[in-house]
Amino acid sequence: MPTETFEFQVEARQLLQLMIHSVYSNKDVFLRELVSNASDALDKLRLAALRDDAPGADTSDLHIEIEPDGDARTLTVRDNGIGMTHDEVGRLIGTIAHSGTAAFLEELKEAKDAAGAEGLIGQFGVGFYSGFMVADEMTLLTRRAGEARGTRWTSRGEGTYTMETVDDAPQGTSVTLHLKPADSDDQLHDYTSARKIKEIVKKYSDFITWPIRLVTPAPAQEAPAGGDGAEAAGGGPAAPETLNSMKALWARSREEVSDDEYHELYKHIGHDWRDPLETVRLQAEGTFEYQALLFVPAHAPHDLFTQGFRRGLQLYVKRVLIMDDCEALLPSYLRFVKGVVDAQDLSLNVSREILQQDRHIRMMQRRLTKKLLSSVKDMMARNPERYTTFWREFGAVLKEGLVTDAENRDALLAVSSFPTTYGDGGPTTLKGYLERMEDGQEDIYYLTGESRRSIENSPHMEAFRDRGIEVLLLTDPVDEVWVDAVGEYEGKPMRSVAKGEIDLGGRTGDDAGTEREQQADAYADLLGWMTEQLDEGIKEVRLSSRLTVSPACIVSDAHELTPALENMYRAMGQ
Ligand code: ADP
Ligand code: MG
Repeated sequence: MPTETFEFQVEARQLLQLMIHSVYSNKDVFLRELVSNASDALDKLRLAALRDDAPGADTSDLHIEIEPDGDARTLTVRDNGIGMTHDEVGRLIGTIAHSGTAAFLEELKEAKDAAGAEGLIGQFGVGFYSGFMVADEMTLLTRRAGEARGTRWTSRGEGTYTMETVDDAPQGTSVTLHLKPADSDDQLHDYTSARKIKEIVKKYSDFITWPIRLVTPAPAQEAPAGGDGAEAAGGGPAAPETLNSMKALWARSREEVSDDEYHELYKHIGHDWRDPLETVRLQAEGTFEYQALLFVPAHAPHDLFTQGFRRGLQLYVKRVLIMDDCEALLPSYLRFVKGVVDAQDLSLNVSREILQQDRHIRMMQRRLTKKLLSSVKDMMARNPERYTTFWREFGAVLKEGLVTDAENRDALLAVSSFPTTYGDGGPTTLKGYLERMEDGQEDIYYLTGESRRSIENSPHMEAFRDRGIEVLLLTDPVDEVWVDAVGEYEGKPMRSVAKGEIDLGGRTGDDAGTEREQQADAYADLLGWMTEQLDEGIKEVRLSSRLTVSPACIVSDAHELTPALENMYRAMGQ
């Protein structure tokens, strides 16, 4: 087959431009990205082999190689993992499937200066393409395990790439970078230097569970004329040196591992360029032993609320990865958590279906859930700023648990906070609300709506504002559901200011009561007439004490769906 030339997808081209002219100062991370991909490819092959799903694949010596060549100014990262088919190369390397790419590029356009762009790259990460920070040309040679022929892909990172079919490609993938001239950028190091490579691998990829070997080129066949040739005599290539310790971080004691090391593991499994917000360790001893290392990301992914969101933890059995995204280990409302669980006594070839039923998996899920919730509680006390970030990013997801996880409802309520009319409007816990309640107030008042502004401008709020009664302002779609499911907190009912008759307690004495009765008499004709006129759309027109300025408002029955909730159910097709 001849060499064919293709154009990059528009988004891909924009990202590549960014990489080529990158202002990102930490260029060393390109190697971390290539090693991370190689490691994923080896994991995938072993998983396929475990499931007898890799006929013809060679799994005898799975490893990663890094081969620098100072004369040619190239650096090659090679793995003998799963590889890619011709189709996959075009699909995975020629386009960008990351959700959120469009949003990212949008933000990037707005970033006027280099510092802004750098910050965005650091937030987004660009995996394979980061090679173009240090290379003016990249070649990828790959053969899918079990297939006969391979594919060579090359690009200079500009508008196009080429692909051709090759007959003699080894299993797996090798990526060769043709390095930019060293003096083209003062952030560029000599990436063919063994010392530099070792330093980078140690720093970013030490925990990778596959051997990362440094391959030094064979010495030239003939000794240079006049040289004493002492080193060349009898030499062959040196035995490749393994650069990483391959120690599973979750099996090492806390004191032995630095925060940076944990963070690098997170970046690898989370495909994220940013540090995690929180790292949570758990070592379960006893009859069913396991270790877990869980990470809360610093930012919610863009697709967290979409159907196909890929969630789950990596499940290992005695250091062998047996499942990449095991959903059964955490409830859906913790789907943003990334991490690793390594169990001592599970079968190596359990299926997803069996795992969903497995007693031990369920035990682990309960324990991990409690551990995570208690970590959030600690965070609240120890590091309120971090908690604020956590809640901003993940509060809307966590609140799903108030509906679905009765067992942990109290723990969830303890770490939940809500915008409120009190003070500067910053979020409050229910506990905080209770502490501020005045004598005689029996209910916890809230109002749901689409935005804080629409709620604050609602006529329902008038009487509450007037009397200085605090109201929680709930704007997430799930809010309407959990307030119903939870019902009360510490014996105080949760009560919508938009539902049913509101009697603002102690403040309306007997006089007020008789006054209202008299008014009702006086206006009976008018109310009757209005009820008749509006018969189609409403149940009843009545006098209200909840308004101070607005002439009228619409109220639903205490047990009826609010308009927003009706919309939500309709959207869900129910
Ligand atoms: P990510 O790793 O976050 O998916 P990358 O840009 O690093 O993003 O890689 C894009 C995709 O290309 C990977 O998801 C993988 O499917 C494929 N890929 C990259 N490198 C390799 C490799 N060495 N072996 C097999 N597939 C690879
Ligand atoms: Mg990657």
